[in-house]
Amino acid sequence: MERTKIVLDDNELPRQWYNLAADLPTPLQPPLGPDGQPVGPEQLAPVFPMNLIEQEVSTERWIDIPEEVLSLLSIWRPSPLYRARRLEQALGTPARIYYKNEGVSPPGSHKPNTAVPQAWYNKQFGIERLTTETGAGQWGSALSFACSLVGLECKVFMVRISFDQKPYRRLMMEAWGGTCFPSPSEQTKTGQAILAATPDTPGSLGIAISEAVEAAVSDSTGKTRYSLGSVLNHVLLHQTVIGLEAKKQLEKAGEKKVDVVIGCAGGGSNFAGLAFPFICDKINGAEIEIYPVEPTSCPTLTRAPFAYDHGDVAGMTPLLAMHSLGHAFVPEPIHAGGLRYHGMAPLVSAAAVEGLITPRAYPQLKCYEAAVKWARTEGFISAPETAHAIAAVIDEAEKAKQEGKEKVIVFNWSGHGLVDLAAYDAYFQGKLVDHELAQEELEKSTAVLDNLPKPSTAKTGKW
Ligand SMILES: *Cc1c(COP(=O)(O)O)cnc(C)c1O
Repeated sequence: MERTKIVLDDNELPRQWYNLAADLPTPLQPPLGPDGQPVGPEQLAPVFPMNLIEQEVSTERWIDIPEEVLSLLSIWRPSPLYRARRLEQALGTPARIYYKNEGVSPPGSHKPNTAVPQAWYNKQFGIERLTTETGAGQWGSALSFACSLVGLECKVFMVRISFDQKPYRRLMMEAWGGTCFPSPSEQTKTGQAILAATPDTPGSLGIAISEAVEAAVSDSTGKTRYSLGSVLNHVLLHQTVIGLEAKKQLEKAGEKKVDVVIGCAGGGSNFAGLAFPFICDKINGAEIEIYPVEPTSCPTLTRAPFAYDHGDVAGMTPLLAMHSLGHAFVPEPIHAGGLRYHGMAPLVSAAAVEGLITPRAYPQLKCYEAAVKWARTEGFISAPETAHAIAAVIDEAEKAKQEGKEKVIVFNWSGHGLVDLAAYDAYFQGKLVDHELAQEELEKSTAVLDNLPKPSTAKTGKW
């Protein structure tokens, strides 16, 4: 029988995370405070625990994963690497397509790979409560799950449109003991002000982040911290277990070389988790095409400038050097809620500036078409976010067919869509339309960047 999945034993879990900041050919630019000066670890201390801040600013290549974290990760890791044989056959492609199935975690996505270590480090630091935002509800449910494992309280601000469209994720959060508010909410000053000005707003991740940060720093006991599910360096670091496992599994499958690596990109964490260990190879001379895929309605990497911008709408977070549509950007309410963030992780943005990765954008109908093809060949029902990666995989597999090349394509199947079936329903009923961000809207939303400091766009020119 031909092998469909390559599994690793529990004791083959990676013992260290990989930090791309150690290998970037042009060093990462520091976050800036309101005065335009680099933000030091001390200034981040009201928001994050110091043990995670140390990881955030680290340029060590390898960081040890604590034994207790490994034990918690082993609930669902190592995740299986699948060969998508049935899709290959349906496409008649000579390409060999592999995917990491991150849908096997209890919340159903890659997000607990960082939720669990973040909760654990906060607990170690003496914190009692975490606040966070969530888009589609994936991150809120992942953090609620992680908090329940280590014994922390969890408060989640959920983007209003998703709160309304996706009641099941709120119920998952509640099952794990978390508390969930629709954002903007009456819980914070930021939420109250936005509700007063725009009572019908669908909300955005930027707004929800402002609320969650405010809820953390305004707790006078000092026992509350904030937790972010993507974008930051330590979050991407924690996700690298995906790519590190994938490399071991590809070796077991007998693959000597990977040609194409693909992941969907919202804040950049699942893409980074798979891609960063391969970017390391590329920096060291390997020839690999690496594609982050985003929606045309929220084209952060493909069309937005590389700039200094806030991570949230109220400007509470430091300025990060990243591709950004502007911190007040509110995207069209497409169903891939997890891909609606205005910014992109600084590490992913830096890799794009350097030319190490090649961003792509896809309209949503093409993604649902790909997800349906996937369900009818591979069987698994994909999250709408994941569908963006699948659309790009199909394009690459068809390209390989035209070129007659036996390429090896690896992608991150970031999560299942069993809680997103309402979106499939809308697609089947023909209610979804494509949306391309108008140039005029893009110019309007990025105008806020004009008065902020500008990062350097220097690159080595090697890629
Ligand atoms: C949250 C989410 C994403 C997008 O977030 P990233 O930080 O870019 O990974 C993608 N896929 C799934 C299933 C998600 O839950």
